[in-house]
Amino acid sequence: MALINCPSCNKKISDKAPTCSHCGFAVGNASEEDILRKQEMQRFNKRQSLQNQSMLAMLLFVGGFGMWYWGGSQPTDLQQNIAVGCSVVGLVWYLVNRVRLFIMKRF
Ligand SMILES: [Zn+2]
Repeated sequence: MALINCPSCNKKISDKAPTCSHCGFAVGNASEEDILRKQEMQRFNKRQSLQNQSMLAMLLFVGGFGMWYWGGSQPTDLQQNIAVGCSVVGLVWYLVNRVRLFIMKRF
């Protein structure tokens, strides 16, 4: 008995198992084409979700920066900290997502 990666969820399953015990994907019935399509779909979904996250991160960054920049003439320390915190988190999150997207495109 050998272990293979489930084409759907990528977890280790037995090559004898007709369906994946993790996600229920019918491995035995899947043709090469089905598996490829499924993988393609998975990659697409992942890319989509990373792009959505990049967008959110960007919004967080812009929002935080805007709050800091236009936060009134006398912002409290707390407001300032939240604003700077948001923009830093947003920026880092955005960069991490860009790198992950980049890595995904290369492999
Ligand atoms: Zn699976």
